[in-house]
Amino acid sequence: GKRAFIAGVADDNGYGWAIAKSLAAAGAEILVGTWVPALNIFESSLRRGKFDESRKLQDGSLMEIAKVYPLDAVYDSLEDVPEDVKTNKRYAGAKNWTVQEVVESVKKDFGTIDILVHSLANGPEVSKPLSETSRKGYLAAISASSGSSLSLTYIASERIIPGYGGGMSSAKAALESDTKVLAFEAGRKKRIRVNTISAGPLGSRAAKAIGF
Ligand code: NAD
Repeated sequence: GKRAFIAGVADDNGYGWAIAKSLAAAGAEILVGTWVPALNIFESSLRRGKFDESRKLQDGSLMEIAKVYPLDAVYDSLEDVPEDVKTNKRYAGAKNWTVQEVVESVKKDFGTIDILVHSLANGPEVSKPLSETSRKGYLAAISASSGSSLSLTYIASERIIPGYGGGMSSAKAALESDTKVLAFEAGRKKRIRVNTISAGPLGSRAAKAIGF
């Protein structure tokens, strides 16, 4: 069977969870990357069976998550992490959560993966119109929201969607452009396919933040 890593699962409401379930139903082994500040609540909810109902697959079995990795996709390695984040008590309890460290941990634990899903986004100023977004908020949106392999994009990259602010429309446009370029590069070099799905509106945690 295939092994999939899904980055951006912290509850059972979002696209990441739904994709994990579909892949599990198709026989894949599931690893997830969970945003560090959300890790404790996600893991304890899993353990206490809070997600058991939504873990149910069509055949009646429950989706198993082989391992949950703490992840903050904004930082490539420990050197990139500012002191205030390192010492923040929501981060201090977890280890090896930068992108490079997660790659190494997964390599050590499982060797290789077959499928990578990027289902995360974070626009701190998403509720502000683009024209009122600060440089800091804009760069934060771009940094957390444009990834690769199989990712989730949104139509706001090409059409005006009022309320989808904070540079998130720009982040999705960047993501779509990066998807094309990476599909070309990774496809040629390593025969890795890179795609993005433009998903419809879903009442996830992220979407509720902007009142969708
Ligand atoms: P969600 O809240 O379920 O998923 C977003 C996840 O990103 C959360 O689990 C959050 O903890 C995580 N995250 C935020 N910053 C992170 C970081 N720095 N490092 C690691 N994880 C981080 O919401 P969702 O709507 O399912 O979002 C998944 C993807 O789908 C996003 O790319 C989103 O833009 C996209 N999308 C959503 C909709 C929609 O209407 N909900 C529509 C189209 C596309």
